[in-house]
Amino acid sequence: MTAEALKTIEIPPQLTVRELATELDVSPIAVIKELMNNGIMASINQPIDFDTAAIVGEEMGFEIVPIQEEEPEPAAELEKQVSLRHQFLEHEDPANLEPRPPVVTILGHVDHGKTTLLDTIRHTSVVSGEAGGITQHIGSYQVDIDGRKITFLDTPGHEAFTAMRARGAMVTDLVILIVAADDGVMPQTKEAIGHARAAGVPIIVAINKIDKSNANVEKVKQDLANEGLVPEEWGGETICVPVSALNNIGIDDLLENILLATEVAELKANPNRPAQGTVIEGKLDEKRGVVANLLVQNGTLNQGDVVVIGTHYGRARAMFNSLGQKIKKAGPSEPVSILGMSTVPEAGEIFEVVKNRKAAEALVQEHLQQAEQSQSNARAPMSLEDFLSRLEGESVKQLNLIVKADVHGSLEPIINSLKTLGDDQHKVRIVLQGTGNISESDVTLAVASNAIVIGFNVSVDEGARRTAELEKVEVRRYRVIYKLIEDVDLALKGLYEPVYEDRIIGHAEVRATFKVGKRVIAGSYITAGKFTRHALVRVVRNRELIHTGEIGSLKRFTEDVEEVATGYECGIGVEGFNDLREGDILEAFIKERVN
Ligand code: GDP
Repeated sequence: MTAEALKTIEIPPQLTVRELATELDVSPIAVIKELMNNGIMASINQPIDFDTAAIVGEEMGFEIVPIQEEEPEPAAELEKQVSLRHQFLEHEDPANLEPRPPVVTILGHVDHGKTTLLDTIRHTSVVSGEAGGITQHIGSYQVDIDGRKITFLDTPGHEAFTAMRARGAMVTDLVILIVAADDGVMPQTKEAIGHARAAGVPIIVAINKIDKSNANVEKVKQDLANEGLVPEEWGGETICVPVSALNNIGIDDLLENILLATEVAELKANPNRPAQGTVIEGKLDEKRGVVANLLVQNGTLNQGDVVVIGTHYGRARAMFNSLGQKIKKAGPSEPVSILGMSTVPEAGEIFEVVKNRKAAEALVQEHLQQAEQSQSNARAPMSLEDFLSRLEGESVKQLNLIVKADVHGSLEPIINSLKTLGDDQHKVRIVLQGTGNISESDVTLAVASNAIVIGFNVSVDEGARRTAELEKVEVRRYRVIYKLIEDVDLALKGLYEPVYEDRIIGHAEVRATFKVGKRVIAGSYITAGKFTRHALVRVVRNRELIHTGEIGSLKRFTEDVEEVATGYECGIGVEGFNDLREGDILEAFIKERVN
């Protein structure tokens, strides 16, 4: 190949085989073949470094040069996330802000060692180090490393993490993702990555159980790279620390890395103001009454302060730290357990200190009004149908999706096609992708990230179905890839329209009619199925359809009822239709969405 024919391509320090193929505008197979010619076996999603990419690219007739990109300011980037995470800091004058300890959550697959790691950290470096303190579970605890503190939320697992996020609470500054070296990245590891990403929280990986003879740290790193968490030592940005939580190996290193990462983030708060923060958990103690475990996020909480949580308030009569010791004040990032609230608060609720009881009552009134308001315009979850109008006013309209498919072979083409949809202003963002049934945690993640769940050839777990119904999360299942892509494409263009079908839910016979005021009511007998108050109804006479409309009233004796089952008699009124006659057949039906 002559020099003039070389086309110059800019590439980043690291990219996957697929990305390189896209850059070169050749098929990924061609790249894989060229890699093989150079003695490198690589899969399509495997990351390769610049030098390797350059060799392959040049052999394929391109000139490869490093991308000339402005280095993003890591601090600025993190600061953006931090300011996002701290709703309390919005009105703070930066001059009043002082550094605060990071708040860390440990996530990972079951049995990979979350609880053991939390215990080991707690027992080796619990704050204040006072001997004899019996550790109390108050939802979080603080450790002290040469005067520098870290707060750990000690309810491991992403249920707690997501439950808080679903309530809008932003507590965690950093996620420690724990991966067992004898097991590698597992389904809940991937979920955890999805949760952390959805929350915009940086991840540090603890590769655990390195004491085991079958530990394979390199395989874990490969697994992580496949999930887009490329280890630092491979040229990526993910800090991976090998540890043994059980044998206390590498824990100091892990803590040091947490401190380093958070120094860059410059976490701050204003300690000199009344406290604000989040409820980590609440419970009723037989002897002590209501116990509220709080995390102070801004300001300082003092014993005797009047604390408002949602629509309740109380005085912080007594305060304890996670060693069960009485304390008189707690500053930013400090976990504290307080007595004195009148009602058990829920995890994720915001607390706020006010001047006195009068101010508390006023704030409670305000919260009551807000609650009423938000009930009347209840947060409508994201849906394909009104995706565009839901995000009105936002310059980039991003459709968050959680995609589950039966096998990798179908997941990959689906994700690839979804990524090509939309334009600069209308985009798909894959919050989580994976194989297997739609699980409850998929749905909670959808709540937390305002996403739609899409399943391809998979079923929905019972818990997932219940949660989706309760939280009104849209869960869509497909058997044809083309249809799935088409629906999302239409949604991005604002053209998606759901299709409804009638489903008959009950039959009734009119046995008599009578008048109530001007309305004619059919005294009916339910012969099959049921009638419900909000169903639609058809009136059939001599096999002919006479009228279709809404049920105007449904009564048993004189009482309005929601539902009447087979074998019962009831009074049925049809909205706007008074020509009901004895012998008519009534058919109750509902409109059901079929796509
Ligand atoms: P969790 O489900 O993630 O909270 O995991 P656990 O902390 O309960 O740990 C699961 C099992 O792995 C327990 O039997 C632990 O003793 C064991 N384990 C945890 N960390 C280590 C480790 O570093 N080395 C070894 N050999 N076992 C560990």
